Amino acid sequence: MKRRSTRSKLEFNCRAQVKELLRNVQLPNPWSMNNFIDQLETYRQREIDLCAFLWTPGSATGAWHPYATHDVIAYAENTTPAHQDHTIFHEVGHMLAGHAPRCVLSTTEAEGAAPHLRPAALNHLLSAESHALDEYEAELIATILLAQVAKIRPHGPLQRRVEAVFQ
Ligand SMILES: [Zn+2]
Repeated sequence: MKRRSTRSKLEFNCRAQVKELLRNVQLPNPWSMNNFIDQLETYRQREIDLCAFLWTPGSATGAWHPYATHDVIAYAENTTPAHQDHTIFHEVGHMLAGHAPRCVLSTTEAEGAAPHLRPAALNHLLSAESHALDEYEAELIATILLAQVAKIRPHGPLQRRVEAVFQ
């Protein structure tokens, strides 16, 4: 039997979780996070409220809080749509993986946990403790989902603007 490291096991599990999710929830085309979350609600049979908040430097860029009847995902409104998608997917990653709601990383810790991944969405400072593997797993799920969305949305906003000018 081939031995896997904890991280490659996690990576394998994350891919399996996303695959299972995408069997039941389609990524909307054209891409819409709201539409995706609507489908996710139906799949999980649990409401998800997306709450925008005004981010200030040094504070968390996202958070997830499960209530008895529904989940709340908070994300920074004063950032790019791509960054918001990343934050929301990261929090969805925590939900899918069944983590305790304790997204805790600062950007520096996140870079340590997942050096080859983008730390942009990882500025979570919600408790005193660090849970690096949970963060790594949530970030992997977010990254895999973002890669899928990129296939639907190959052109970024800048390229779309450039195309519009030349039409
Ligand atoms: Zn997190």
